[in-house]
Amino acid sequence: MLFDTHVHLNAEQFSEDLNEVIDRARTEGVQNMVVVGFDRPTITRAMELIEEYDFMYASIGWHPVDAIDMRDEDLGWIEELAKHPKVVAIGEMGLDYYWDKSPKNVQQEVFRRQIQLAKKLKLPIVIHNREATADIVTILKEENAAEVGGIMHCFSGSVEVAKECVEMNFYISLGGPVTFKNAKKPKEVAQEIPLHKLLIETDCPYLAPHPYRGKRNEPSYVKLVAEQIAELKGISYEEVSQATTENAKILFGIK
Ligand SMILES: [Zn+2]
Repeated sequence: MLFDTHVHLNAEQFSEDLNEVIDRARTEGVQNMVVVGFDRPTITRAMELIEEYDFMYASIGWHPVDAIDMRDEDLGWIEELAKHPKVVAIGEMGLDYYWDKSPKNVQQEVFRRQIQLAKKLKLPIVIHNREATADIVTILKEENAAEVGGIMHCFSGSVEVAKECVEMNFYISLGGPVTFKNAKKPKEVAQEIPLHKLLIETDCPYLAPHPYRGKRNEPSYVKLVAEQIAELKGISYEEVSQATTENAKILFGIK
């Protein structure tokens, strides 16, 4: 069994062959997935998918790249939708200093407001971080995000930062990059962070693992992430798949 904690099956890249993609995932043992919505169209589609597939759950929030577009009504809308029993987290949210569509101060404000919302709803949060580690850690501390905890999604930072996040009640989620030959940091994180604090994800259609790097990613490939972690830790694939599935269920409150 496998739990892909971060998929974008609500993306247009899957509009042609979604059922085949899901069948392949189920065949590889992917028991559950969390579909992530981060703007109006993808949140709407995520809510449709969780109605259609009983093994699918949703995380909904506002992406930092589009922070400038978020209106007060959008946050209210997310709050209403989050009352659905299959919405298990808020996000992805965070900071992205690579793209400059939204100014840093706007991103930070939208990030803080979503942490506050998640605390009100008592839901964990899913963090997107690109080139903004120091500010992310500061805001998580200042907003006392440890109260709800959550996921450092597709974590690419150092072991030190990973440990700091674990101390703040966050799980470290590894995706395709841990399988890349030159990905030194994710491999170190896989080795150093205890299994009970690790999750696995694809972030599909992005970041496909080796040997599919550069191609469209899909949930069945999460198996490759689990196999790589098993190899790096020197433990069995079954141990990794079971533990990461249990971790996800605990975090999301899924029985
Ligand atoms: Zn994502």
